Amino acid sequence: MFTLPDLPYDYDALGAVISKEIMQLHHDKHHQTYVDKLNAAVESTPELAGQSIEQLLTNLTSLPESVRGAVRNHGGGHYNHSLFWQWMSPDGGGEPTGELAEAIIAKYGSFQAFVDEFTAKSLALFGSGWTWLQPDMSIVTTANQDSLLSQGLDAPILGLDVWEHAYYLDYKNRRDEYIKAWWNVVNWDFVANRLHS
Ligand code: MN
Repeated sequence: MFTLPDLPYDYDALGAVISKEIMQLHHDKHHQTYVDKLNAAVESTPELAGQSIEQLLTNLTSLPESVRGAVRNHGGGHYNHSLFWQWMSPDGGGEPTGELAEAIIAKYGSFQAFVDEFTAKSLALFGSGWTWLQPDMSIVTTANQDSLLSQGLDAPILGLDVWEHAYYLDYKNRRDEYIKAWWNVVNWDFVANRLHS
């Protein structure tokens, strides 16, 4: 049985960047629905009982075809959003420090060049999906709620939800403004911790 994790801050805590209205809808409705539909899929298939969300997504192609789509979409949605809430903080923003900063600069030349590249890939993503930073500092995107775990890749250390439901109420079609503002709430401590997890 999977459960909806609480937000690690109040619904209005990111208010200058993401409104309380979006956070309530995104967390209480969208994420809850992913959890509910994932649970329905798992309950219909006894052999999936007891598996973690990471195990389900990593072994996606070996799951029964009857539940593969539900786990891909709703399991991916649950996994992605459970991380997304933690990648943001009202105390976030600024720049990473230490080993993470060094790794970013080694790959991109500067923190700003990394931000520009991550932003460009997020803007170029057609339709709904996510942009990810990998432990090797590469930036990749996936469509819908697809998980990198299902593609044999490492778990992401940072991710951005670029579905319209993540920003439309606040920014309408201006995905560029949403992304620009989002950098002000990125929780770099959590990103740095994932580099070693
Ligand atoms: Mn979302």
